[in-house]
Amino acid sequence: MTRASLVLNAGSSSLKFAVYKDGPGTRPAVLRGRIAGIGTEPVFSARDEAGRALPEDQGMQLEEGVGYDPLMASLLDWLNSRQGGVTITAAGHRVVHGGRDHAGPARVDAALLTELATLSPLAPLHQPHNLAAIRAVAAAMPGLPQVACFDTSFHHTQARLSKLFALPRALTEKGIIRYGFHGLSYDYIAGILPDHLDCRAEGRVIVAHLGNGASMCAMKARRSVATSMGFTALAGLMMGQRCGTLDPGIVLYLIREVGMAPEAVEHMLYQESGLLGVSGISNDVELLQASAEPSAREAIDLFCERAACELAALAVTIAGLDAIIFTAGIGENSALVRRLICDRLTWMGVVLDGEANGRSAVRISSPASAVDVLVLPTDEEAVIARSTQALLALQNDEVPSGQIARA
Ligand code: ADP
Repeated sequence: MTRASLVLNAGSSSLKFAVYKDGPGTRPAVLRGRIAGIGTEPVFSARDEAGRALPEDQGMQLEEGVGYDPLMASLLDWLNSRQGGVTITAAGHRVVHGGRDHAGPARVDAALLTELATLSPLAPLHQPHNLAAIRAVAAAMPGLPQVACFDTSFHHTQARLSKLFALPRALTEKGIIRYGFHGLSYDYIAGILPDHLDCRAEGRVIVAHLGNGASMCAMKARRSVATSMGFTALAGLMMGQRCGTLDPGIVLYLIREVGMAPEAVEHMLYQESGLLGVSGISNDVELLQASAEPSAREAIDLFCERAACELAALAVTIAGLDAIIFTAGIGENSALVRRLICDRLTWMGVVLDGEANGRSAVRISSPASAVDVLVLPTDEEAVIARSTQALLALQNDEVPSGQIARA
């Protein structure tokens, strides 16, 4: 019987899942997939170890508007029906916010769940779903060891100055500091840098994680020195629907002068801004690229202008730049976005190879470039699987195992 870990990455409107055989190191998932469009029109897709698409939605309840919990239960049923011969020994979860104390993955128990729930206001689009996924697995597979892997952990190496806001000290002591996110993605990229860069892998590298959520991380010796995101996942770059860094006076103005309720402001900043808000069309870069509307191009231009400015600011924290890594949906696929960002960085010695960029090659900088520019696909699920198995092995756990079976 093959023993394997289940990985769940629950986002604001999608749920990614993967199954990894137990064992040390990083290995390909034996099964991975996602349910997108949760809350609207859910779409299920999955692939086997060889990357072959699996038949859709057998046994999945995918009615329009169906919520997170029924979908989660349905997914566990589907996995159970698929996983003949595989025993699930553990579940690893992406948890966006780990607060101040978690510099690494943590075994889930009731106290941890209570602690993590207090951080939900800091990541309202993600944290409640992350915790709901943990509770759903606990209900379906009682006693199964579960591990929370935090997006904030990777940034625990940052110096105090990188974490401070210019606010009264008492607020800093209360934990109003820059935490940073997308740490699982940065962890994965940091792990593969030596495969793609010479000694520069240990140098000054900025990783641009450009997905629907977007941020950048400045690394030295493959450790986080500074990041564009902050106390919440709203700060830094312009994103699909999130505004990124904003004059905080705007928030006060909207509440006091325009009369908006705080909840309405929150909804606007998290879900109606960014590429969607500026274009008035969509948060989807592929769609915006294909649009002839001037507002679509303006949204992309603003996204790239903000990204280049953030990247240049981060370069200060690592005193220069040896390499830029583009990753995540936009970073891996949009040659236009990469070009518009890099064209704003020629003064730093960045020179793109237009042909290589056009086909999303791994190395897209020209030999004349002072800065290496690479496109590297990220894999948050692989990091979660590796961390989950390593933590449980470290705890010398007698892992109780069982077929996936809903209670
Ligand atoms: P998340 O995991 O944060 O939901 P992803 O990393 O999947 O997001 O990235 C989603 C973004 O990637 C969307 O804006 C989508 O348009 C963009 N994207 C995906 N494929 C392409 C492509 N071929 N060309 C341009 N943009 C793309």
